[in-house]
Amino acid sequence: MAQIINGKEVSAKVRENLKKETADLLESTGICPGLAVILVGSDPASQVYVRNKHLACEELGFHSFEYKLSENTTQEQLLDLISVLNKNPKVHGILVQLPLPDHLDEQSVLYAIAPEKDVDAFHPMNVGKIMIGNYEVLPCTPAGVMELLDASGVEIAGKNCVVIGRSNIVGKPMSMLLLQRSGTVTICHSKTKNLADICAQADILVVAIGKPKFVTADMVKEGAIVIDVGINRDENNKLCGDVDFESVSPKASLITPVPGGVGPMTITMLMKNTLRAAKAQNGIKD
Ligand code: NDP
Repeated sequence: MAQIINGKEVSAKVRENLKKETADLLESTGICPGLAVILVGSDPASQVYVRNKHLACEELGFHSFEYKLSENTTQEQLLDLISVLNKNPKVHGILVQLPLPDHLDEQSVLYAIAPEKDVDAFHPMNVGKIMIGNYEVLPCTPAGVMELLDASGVEIAGKNCVVIGRSNIVGKPMSMLLLQRSGTVTICHSKTKNLADICAQADILVVAIGKPKFVTADMVKEGAIVIDVGINRDENNKLCGDVDFESVSPKASLITPVPGGVGPMTITMLMKNTLRAAKAQNGIKD
């Protein structure tokens, strides 16, 4: 039976360190990390995410700037707000909660955020830096996965790593981070042939596709490390991942559950990026 990677526990430890680091920064320099979160419209899931980000700021002692804009906000109004926040020295990180309403152009909004304040690491400048391997901020979910692997003592170098999913926010950056740590990485997607065979070669399997319980035991090698990024609802409306936990966990050596695996890491990594951004913007070396 696989050992469970407990994301809640790892996240709590990282937050404890961030809280201490934040208090030290404030005491020694008077700088308090500030995170601005912009929510356009009233999507219920987004409201929950924004609230959780605010609570995380409170927990760690960050300044939290919340902007709840109406569904009818224009592109120009949103870009104006970003421009103001870009210039505000108390704001070190800016996050626009996605998805945006259809009439807004997501790409130009994300590109308008100053790269040094882009704590989601979605700006092409930061994406490029990740590709090169010389980065200050990492996209939160893949960074959370790396933190979980490290906390579990997993050696990545030389391992066969298979990532299912090639989205810009999870699959692609995830693959880059594993490659930088000298994993031998295969990226799979909806057009991949013989997916089950490729997955069965994986020492480390990261699944980010958004299909409930898609990965079954026959697709997993005995003793594999299985990281489930998916957040879905099953037929009984219960939260579940992209991996069929029940059948896969007896075969894996380490596995993340859903909920309680990758999920708790994402906001914690956002906080880590914001603290790092606050230091960098004030010329303080990490
Ligand atoms: P996207 O929908 O953007 O990407 C899904 C990827 O999966 C695509 O690359 C797609 O391939 C691939 N895919 C879909 N179906 C198959 C299939 N049958 N076989 C192989 N590949 C397939 O999703 P995201 O990357 O944004 O998110 C993935 C999951 O992770 C979701 O459940 C999401 O809720 C969750 N998530 C969780 C987070 C967390 O904090 N834990 C944060 C972000 C996401 P193709 O490119 O060919 O279409």
